[in-house]
Amino acid sequence: MTGDKISTIKGVGDKRAQLFKRLGVDTVDALFHFYPRNYVDYSKIKAIKDTEIGETACVKATVISSPTESRIRKGLTLYKFKADDNGMRLNVTIFNNKYQANKIKCGETYLFYGKIGGSLIWREMSSPEILTTDGAKIRPIYRQTDSLNTYAIEKTVKTALSNAKFDEYLPQDILDKYKLCGYGYAIKNIHFPDSFSALNKARRRLVFDELFGLQLGMRMIKQNSKLANSYNVETDYTNEFEQLLPFSLTNAQKNAISDCINDMNHGIMMNRLIQGDVGSGKTAVAAAVCYTAIKNGLQATMMAPTEILAEQHFASFVKMFSKTGMQIALLTGSTTGKKRAEILSRLKEGDIDLIVGTHAIIQNDVEFNRLGLVITDEQHRFGVNQRAMLSAKALNPHVMVMSATPIPRTLALMIYGDLDISILDELPPGRQPIETFVINSQIKQRAFGYIKKHLDEGRQGYIVCPLVSDESDDDNSNKIAAENYKEELSQNQFKGYSVGLLHGKMKSSEKEDVMRKFASGQIQLLVSTTVIEVGVDVPNSVIMMIENADLFGLSQLHQLRGRVGRGKHKSTCILVSDAETNIAKARLNVIKSTNDGFIISEEDLKLRGPGDFFGNRQHGLPSLKITNLFADIDILHETQSCAQSILDSDPTLSDPKNAKIKAVADKLKQKMAQVEMN
Ligand code: ADP
Ligand code: MG
Repeated sequence: MTGDKISTIKGVGDKRAQLFKRLGVDTVDALFHFYPRNYVDYSKIKAIKDTEIGETACVKATVISSPTESRIRKGLTLYKFKADDNGMRLNVTIFNNKYQANKIKCGETYLFYGKIGGSLIWREMSSPEILTTDGAKIRPIYRQTDSLNTYAIEKTVKTALSNAKFDEYLPQDILDKYKLCGYGYAIKNIHFPDSFSALNKARRRLVFDELFGLQLGMRMIKQNSKLANSYNVETDYTNEFEQLLPFSLTNAQKNAISDCINDMNHGIMMNRLIQGDVGSGKTAVAAAVCYTAIKNGLQATMMAPTEILAEQHFASFVKMFSKTGMQIALLTGSTTGKKRAEILSRLKEGDIDLIVGTHAIIQNDVEFNRLGLVITDEQHRFGVNQRAMLSAKALNPHVMVMSATPIPRTLALMIYGDLDISILDELPPGRQPIETFVINSQIKQRAFGYIKKHLDEGRQGYIVCPLVSDESDDDNSNKIAAENYKEELSQNQFKGYSVGLLHGKMKSSEKEDVMRKFASGQIQLLVSTTVIEVGVDVPNSVIMMIENADLFGLSQLHQLRGRVGRGKHKSTCILVSDAETNIAKARLNVIKSTNDGFIISEEDLKLRGPGDFFGNRQHGLPSLKITNLFADIDILHETQSCAQSILDSDPTLSDPKNAKIKAVADKLKQKMAQVEMN
C-alpha cells in the first residue's frame, strides 16, 4: 500500500492531479481503490456479418486501406480506412486523433469495439476503440471527469501498477480459510482482469477487505465505547411501572426493558439500540426504563426530532406517571423566557426527574444535576454529533436510542456495530393488519367517497399530499401545494367536514394547535405533507390516502401508513399512483402485501440497492466502494465471524502477527471519526 501522492506517477502533472482530486483520488493508493464502474469485454468477438445496425459490438477485421486524412473544417479532421472480415467490409472513421490513426497499419488485424452503423452489405464504426488482437480481453471503464476520460485513467493505473509492490496484510491462514486471492492479485485484476473468473476472485477479495476492515473497526469502537460510569441501577421497578399502564407489556417490550436494566447495573454505560417496527410500543419501553432509572435516583432525558413528537411523548409520560409524583418537563424551541429559565434552574437543582424535548435540550446552558440516562427517539433523524452532545451533559450516561426503521439484523449489526441491539418483533395484541390498496388517480373520487364513509362513522383520516419538490418537507413549494390541495378538498369533496392542514413550514405553535385538534377529534381529516411521518399517535384515525405514492421510499411509506391501525378499528391505506414502470409497481406491491417493516426494508434493499438505502451518512459509516450489501451478504457474514475470532484471541490486536490488520482497523476508525465530525 502506498500513500504516495498521485503526482508521483509518471505522466501525472499538476493539472491532471487536480482532475484526479475531483474524482476523490489524491494518492496512488486511492487510485488503486478507484475501481472501474464497468468493463468492456473484448473476448466476445462477433463476425461482422452477424452484427446488427445500432448494436455495440466487438469485431475483428484486417485493415485493407491505410487511413486517409481529410480536414473538414478548422478543428475537425477525419481519418478514414477500410477493414475486412471474411469478405464483409467495415468502414472506420476516427475523429481528430492523428496519433491513433498513425498507428493503424495496412494488412494488420485489430479488434474494433463500438457502435455498428452502415447498411445491409457493409458496416461502419465511428471512433471505435481499436486494440491489437493480443491486447487485453477485458478492459476497465472508469467514472470520468472533464478531460480526464476513462482511457487516461486506465493508462495512469497501468503505469502505477507497473511500479507497485503490494504488501499482503492478511495472514495466510485467513486467506486459506476464506479462499481469498492475494491483495496484489486483487488490485491488478480489479483493473485489468485476465478473465472474468479472475475478476470475480479479485472482487471477492476486495469486498472482503472492505467489510472486514469495517467489522474490525466497529468492534474495536464498541469495546472502547463501554466506558465506566457511576449511574448504577440496582433495583428493577418494571413490575411497579406496569401497574401504571392500561395494558400489559408485550414479551418483546419486557425483554427490551430487561436488556436495558441489565446493561445499567455493571458500572459501565449502556449503549443500546431499540429497534422496533412502527406501533411496536417503543415509547412504553422508554418510559419503563426511565421509571426504573428515576426510582434509582437518576435524572433522565428523552430527545425527539420534532416538536409534535416531543409534545406527544411528554403528554403520554405525564399521563403514565401522573400518580407517581415524578417531575416531568417539556423543553422545545417554543419553550422560552421565564418558563425556560424556571425549567433550567429546576433541572440543575435536580427537581426535575425527566425532561422530554427536541434538540433544544442539547443547548449549552441546559445543565443537569444527576443525569444518568439519555434516550433519543427516531435516532436516524439525528446526527451522531447531536447524540454525542446530549450524552456530554453527564459523565458517560447510559445511552438508549430508538429506531422505527426496521432493517435486517445483519445490516443493523453492521451499521450500528457500536451498539447493542434489542428488537421489538411483536406488536401489541389486537392490532388488525392495515389493509392496503393501490389505485390510479382515475378512481380517486371513489376513494374520497370511501374516506367520507369512515368520517361519517366517527373515525378520522389523513391525506398525504403529492410531493411537489423532493427537497425537505418544509420546502416552500410543498407548502403552497399542500395549502391549495387542502382548500380544494375542503370546498369540494369534503365540504361540510372539518379539514385541517399540517406542513413543515408552519410555526410549531400552529402545528401543535392542529395536532391537538386532530387528537381531540375536532379535525376529522388531516391534509398533510410528510411531517406526520414521525411517530404521531392518534388511535381514532383509521384511513389514510397517500398521493403519488411511487415517489416515496418504501420505508417512508411504511412509516406513514403506521399512523393508522393504532386503535381497535380496522384501518385502510390507499396508495395513489399512476406510475407505469415495473419497478414502481413491484415496490408498491411490497407495501400492499405486507405490514412487516423488516420484510419491507429487505425488499427495499433488493429493489433499490444499498446505495439509496444507505443514502444518508447519518449512520456514520464510510461509504462502501465495492460492496453490494445485498449481493455480498455472505461475505459480510464471513467477515463478521473472521473479525470476531481475531478479536476474541487478541482483543487489542497487539500480537505482532496482527500488526498489519491493526493498521487497517486504525485507519478505518480514523475515517469513521472523520465522518462523525462532518
Ligand atoms: P412506536 O413503537 O411506533 O413508537 P408507540 O410507542 O407510539 O409505538 O405505541 C403505539 C401505540 O401502542 C400507543 O397507542 C401505545 O399506547 C400502544 N401500546 C404500547 N404498548 C402496548 C401494549 N403492550 N399493549 C397495548 N397497547 C400498547
Ligand atoms: Mg414512536
